[in-house]
Amino acid sequence: MPSVPRSFEPSPFSPKGEWIKAGFHCHTTLSDGGLSPEETVALYRRRGFRCLGITDHRAVTDAEALSDAAFIALNSTENGGDPDLIGVGVRSSAPRDLPLPERARRLAEQGGFVIAPHPAYCAASPETYRACPALHALEIYNAYCDRAYANGVAVELWDMLLGDGLRLWGVAGDDAHLNPRKRTYSDAGEAWVEVWAGEFSRRGILDALTRGAFYSTQGPRFEEIVVGKETISLRTSPVVEVRWRSFGKAGHVFRADGGARITASALPEWLRVRTYVRIELVDGDGRRAWSNPFFLRTAEEGS
Ligand SMILES: [Zn+2]
Repeated sequence: MPSVPRSFEPSPFSPKGEWIKAGFHCHTTLSDGGLSPEETVALYRRRGFRCLGITDHRAVTDAEALSDAAFIALNSTENGGDPDLIGVGVRSSAPRDLPLPERARRLAEQGGFVIAPHPAYCAASPETYRACPALHALEIYNAYCDRAYANGVAVELWDMLLGDGLRLWGVAGDDAHLNPRKRTYSDAGEAWVEVWAGEFSRRGILDALTRGAFYSTQGPRFEEIVVGKETISLRTSPVVEVRWRSFGKAGHVFRADGGARITASALPEWLRVRTYVRIELVDGDGRRAWSNPFFLRTAEEGS
């Protein structure tokens, strides 16, 4: 098939950096969680995390004192309201009775990374998020909502909004409450974010999040994502499917046969990318990973 002309925006991934395992949705005894902030950080550290935003309901959990040379805790909150919002790296919450766009703006103005959590659980319409320019990301997978309510996946909404031209990154979270009284709740580390940070610091992580230099996962790994002007290529942990997804009638699935595994993939030359392309991985246990969207340059940016 003939190749299709295209030109991607520059890669969000800095040439030098490292992957940092991070979580941006969990609760402690300061709201409805079962462990103290100290115990929560200790648990995530044992599970390989190097960064955590504790997102207790309503107030900002002051966690940055729990940071050290090997671990970064970011003051964060799950800002109640209709629908909910998460602010990562913020000093104060926003009044819950304010409209969503205003709450998002107040969290973003503090230098925070603003996520719309569990959109299906919030029963939020696409229009709700279209009217919210300060939003950085959609929580495309929430392990707690998936486990308890079967509504933790929001990739269809994500594609709808991306197809409309919104720039929204995709975040996965475990929403762990670590509370034995809540038997259906998810556990720490069931889904997380791998951040490619040029510098292991609070600023380095927040900058990488804002630029979209990260992916989300339940286990499979993007070891490298190389974005060229017209090409995207990957190295991954062994998976059974690599799913290239654009908007509408455009996409392609590479599937491994039998016991084979895929560890590399490239965007097919013939795939007609419409506005953006993103990649999903599926491993042999059905666990998924989601890259962020890679956008085509607009006409004004030139080619
Ligand atoms: Zn939550």
